[in-house]
Amino acid sequence: MKSSMGVLITYPMSTYLQHQLNNRFTLFRLWDLPTSHNHAGSIQAVVGSTHIGADRQLIDSLPALEIVSSFSVGLDKVDLDYCKHKGIRVTNTPDVLTDDVADLAIGLILATLRRICESDNGKKVGIVGLGRIGTAIAKRAESFNCSISYHSRSKKPELKYKYFPNIIELASNSEIMVVACALTDETHHIINREVIDALGPKGVLINIGRGSHVDEPELVAALIEGRLGGAGLDVYENEPDVPEELFGLDNVVVVPHVGSSTVETETDMADLVVRNLEAHFSKKPLLTPVV
Ligand code: NAP
Repeated sequence: MKSSMGVLITYPMSTYLQHQLNNRFTLFRLWDLPTSHNHAGSIQAVVGSTHIGADRQLIDSLPALEIVSSFSVGLDKVDLDYCKHKGIRVTNTPDVLTDDVADLAIGLILATLRRICESDNGKKVGIVGLGRIGTAIAKRAESFNCSISYHSRSKKPELKYKYFPNIIELASNSEIMVVACALTDETHHIINREVIDALGPKGVLINIGRGSHVDEPELVAALIEGRLGGAGLDVYENEPDVPEELFGLDNVVVVPHVGSSTVETETDMADLVVRNLEAHFSKKPLLTPVV
């Protein structure tokens, strides 16, 4: 049954998600709303995306906002501190997308290495961020006989992979480096010139995290100058723009932020967004609470 709760979707993502929301709630589409409108007071929920989440300005413009349900696992486009401060709940879509993103990372490794190596078997793989997706990548890389090391904030004593508290040391000890951490102020440009140079002319960088993890001009320069062996990229600093120079490089594989873009996963993500909103409005515990 359709409720009178007002839900604002920020970006034209999954049409399935839009249908599900439209069937259940009074749906407002940010891209269709005129700059000045009088619906602000009737919007209780925001459904954000990797492109437009919920920043302070959007939050302040919605006086009745109770919950932000993000159609993503990454929350770098949601002002979490401000939501916490204002008592606004936040949910995301973890787990249901993990396997697809890990598959894409391995696909990028294979696609990139095929051009520069005789074999992609048995390489030293360094993972930045051994969370849900990082761990799923490690499991897949193990089956290619790769040795796995990682850098994250904390050591995972239950895992047998080698931990490097210093990312430069991880890069020096890796032939392939995969970025799979959350984007925060601390991890912005975590892949800088020093890390790229430590990875070196035979090293390959795979980024399925967020574009701003990497200092993109430094990455492009290193690839052009041969200081880095190759790169497989799903994400970019200024999406949808991709640096022109990358298209002409044989040792680079670019895909357009499609890590979780399979029909099955997008459906699972959309269902999770809707179920979080329904739980919130019926005063039940949230399924995947963040704040
Ligand atoms: P997760 O389970 O929360 O894992 C996040 C990892 O980031 C953790 O291992 C964490 O380390 C690490 N991390 C956080 N701050 C760090 C820091 N300062 N230095 C080093 N590592 C740090 O999240 P997930 O589900 O695996 O997702 C990871 C990210 O992938 C998301 O945030 C999103 O940006 C990206 N993603 C991309 C796509 C795509 O389409 N390309 C799709 C989904 C997700 P600790 O364990 O030590 O805290």
